[in-house]
Amino acid sequence: MPQPNSTPEKRLEGRIALVTGASRGIGAAVARRFAEEGAHLVLTARTSAALEEIDDDIQKITGEPATLVPLDLGDFDAIDRLGAAIFERFGKLDVLVGNAGQLGTLSPLAHIDPKVWDSVMAVNATANWRLIRSMDPLLRSSDSGRAIFVTSTVGQEARAYWGIYAVSKAALEMTAMVYAHEVEKTPVRVNLINPGPTRTSMRAQAFPGEDPETVRTPDSITGLFVDLAEAACTMNGERLKPE
Ligand code: NAP
Repeated sequence: MPQPNSTPEKRLEGRIALVTGASRGIGAAVARRFAEEGAHLVLTARTSAALEEIDDDIQKITGEPATLVPLDLGDFDAIDRLGAAIFERFGKLDVLVGNAGQLGTLSPLAHIDPKVWDSVMAVNATANWRLIRSMDPLLRSSDSGRAIFVTSTVGQEARAYWGIYAVSKAALEMTAMVYAHEVEKTPVRVNLINPGPTRTSMRAQAFPGEDPETVRTPDSITGLFVDLAEAACTMNGERLKPE
């Protein structure tokens, strides 16, 4: 029985966790929560200054700095270099959170700028495959590798004007599900989270007229990420929504 004043158990103690899109929104909230749960964080996004602010928060929580790796996920070679750097420093990866995403433009398919199409496909879909390609040996080197990818309702439900975002999330979901089947007989577990409406800059971009106060915060949905990142997680190939 835990004693009334005992420190609650940290569910990710000592685990090495890579979070993409950690500079703001859901990724930043997950990074802070994982730090509270005892993980060492490797954080990526393009915006160094924002990553440093998250690192300040993490140092206040843990007293230890995170490992910050500013990069553009559209630069696939940078993903390979990240894999090599994690191998050099830690020799394994316990948790991969493929969270970074772009909305692109909401417009009819016929009107989407090809450059926007390529950018959203690169970040939302191809970069997550490149992360799998680079991190798979590291996840298998962990005694309990966990991969979590962040999808959206429109990954499975066609919605007019959400074309590139929807197509990219559908591709991400299939990539994650194929990977889940491939690792079935290993200790690695792979799952998807559909966060639902969450108060972030992406949500504000998609729904500019909405009062943000009516949408739940990123901090309120981090529990499911911890559930799927834990060594104790047995789920594989699931697509889950926070309660
Ligand atoms: P957000 O606040 O816009 O954050 C997006 C993150 O992705 C930022 O950290 C951004 O960092 C990073 N990113 C974007 N392009 C990048 C690139 N080229 N290279 C590296 N990093 C890049 O959005 P969010 O709402 O937290 O979204 C997080 C995930 O949740 C996304 O996959 C999104 O599709 C999904 N989602 C969100 C909602 C919602 O209601 N918010 C609902 C369903 C699904 P930099 O700009 O610093 O690079």
